[in-house]
Parts: sequence; structure tokens; C-alpha cells
Amino acid sequence: ATSKIRQGDYSVTLPRRGNDELGELAESIQVLADDLSHMKRQRNEFLASISHELRTPLTYIKGYADIAGKSGITSDDRNQYLQIIHEEATKLSGLVKGLFDLAKLDENTFTIQKEPLELCAFMRGIHSRMAPSFTEKKMALNLVCHGEVYIEADPVRFEQIIINLLDNARKYSEEGTAATMQVFKKNGHIHITVMDEGKGIPEEDQAWVFDRFYRVDKSRSKALGGSGLGLAIVKELVEAHGGKITVRSELGKGATFEIIL
Ligand code: ADP
Repeated sequence: ATSKIRQGDYSVTLPRRGNDELGELAESIQVLADDLSHMKRQRNEFLASISHELRTPLTYIKGYADIAGKSGITSDDRNQYLQIIHEEATKLSGLVKGLFDLAKLDENTFTIQKEPLELCAFMRGIHSRMAPSFTEKKMALNLVCHGEVYIEADPVRFEQIIINLLDNARKYSEEGTAATMQVFKKNGHIHITVMDEGKGIPEEDQAWVFDRFYRVDKSRSKALGGSGLGLAIVKELVEAHGGKITVRSELGKGATFEIIL
């Protein structure tokens, strides 16, 4: 059997196969259409989140710039308003940078330049650069890495991954606790863990923390300067290195992020 499809002046004759195959085709088209509408919905939700996230600091900046410009306010007050404007602008530029990174990762235009890297020495470097910010919060930062462990990685992007995890370990922990980075080999894979003794992540939130703009405690995370994009970028970067990242946590006892390469 054949079916005729008119295309402008042309008449196209398509061979018609069994009904089952047509049914299958219709089903695939339906799946494709569903996927597309799901993607469209996701994109719209993402755009709504972005505009919300951008609007909040902009509202502060505009509001405080208005009052700072008024006559009759003390210079102390004015300085305080300028300080807030500066902090909000910093948040805004972090957000824009994060969005830009994610857009590039989405489009696969993000350049990952892998090179041979000895992980223990690499982690020691990060440790010495990050330790002061932990000391400042009266926290300890430990590193456990034995011998030499070679990987292929982009040093800039890999450092971004570890620093993001360490920033979170510090942000979501109390004074007097410790964070530990550990590197070890198991079953032919290389494991890198970043563990803290902080507030932890409730079980029901663990599956979502790698999503864009997902925060367990919105107000607290925002007060700590979080954009909610950090872990989404970390996950993409780990995957761009051919790895996987997971989290496990017990509420009130801390969180452990584990990268497996
Ligand atoms: P943020 O900029 O808000 O820190 P992230 O994407 O880095 O965004 O993290 C998403 C959320 O996951 C955070 O808002 C926080 O609720 C939770 N989170 C991330 N790391 C930790 C951690 N080490 N301990 C407790 N909660 C964490």
C-alpha cells in the first residue's frame, strides 16, 4: 500500500509499511514532542528562577542607592548603604559568572584542557590556599593523600570543583569543626572526598542539591552569599572530566561529597 502526501506542487508517495511500524513512528513522535514540551517547561522555569535571582540583589542595589543619595543622612549610614550595594553587586557578578559557566557547559563550548596531574601535590596546593579561610572561621582543614596519584584533568576546572566543595563545607559548618579532603584508590577508581561536620543535608533534599538554584535553606544560604549554582556547576565539571559525584549526609553530623573518577 502507498500513501500520497501533497507538498506544494509535488506529490510525494511514501511506501507504507505495516501498521505496527506506523504506530511505532507515531509513538516516537509523541515521545519527542513530550520531551520537547518538557524541555520548554524546564527552560521557562529556569528563566523564571534567573530573573527572580537577579531581581533580588538589584532591588537592594536600587533601594540603597536611592537612600544613599538623599540629603540629611549621616556619613556612617551612607557608608553602610554603600557597603550593602557593594556586597549585592558582588553577589550579582558571581551569579552572572555562574550562569555564563553553565550556559557554556550546556552548549559544550566549555573548554576542558586535560593534562597529567599528580593529585596529592595538587590537593596540597589547594589545602595551603584554602586553610587560612578555615582558620579564620576557627575550623580545621585536613588532607589525607598518600603517595602519588595520577589523573588527567584540567587544573583550573578541577580546582574550581574542589574549592566549591570546600567553600560549602566551610559555609555550612560551625566553628570548632573540621573539614577533610581525602584521596584514595578503590577497585581501579580514584575517589576524592570532601567531608565536613556541619549541619548536613536532609535525606529528602540530597537528590536535589545538584540542581540549579536548589537550596535546602533558602534564607540561610542567601545570607551566606550562596547563588545556588555552585553544585550544579561542580556536577557538570565532574562529568566533563568523565567522573561522577554523589553526596551522603546525616542531618546534624555533616555531609560528604564524593567524586569518583
Ligand atoms: P549555594 O550557593 O546556595 O551554596 P550550592 O549549589 O553550592 O549553592 O549548594 C546547594 C545547596 O546545598 C545549598 O544551598 C545548601 O543548602 C546545600 N549544601 C551544599 N553543600 C553543603 C554542605 N557541605 N553541608 C550542608 N548543606 C550543603
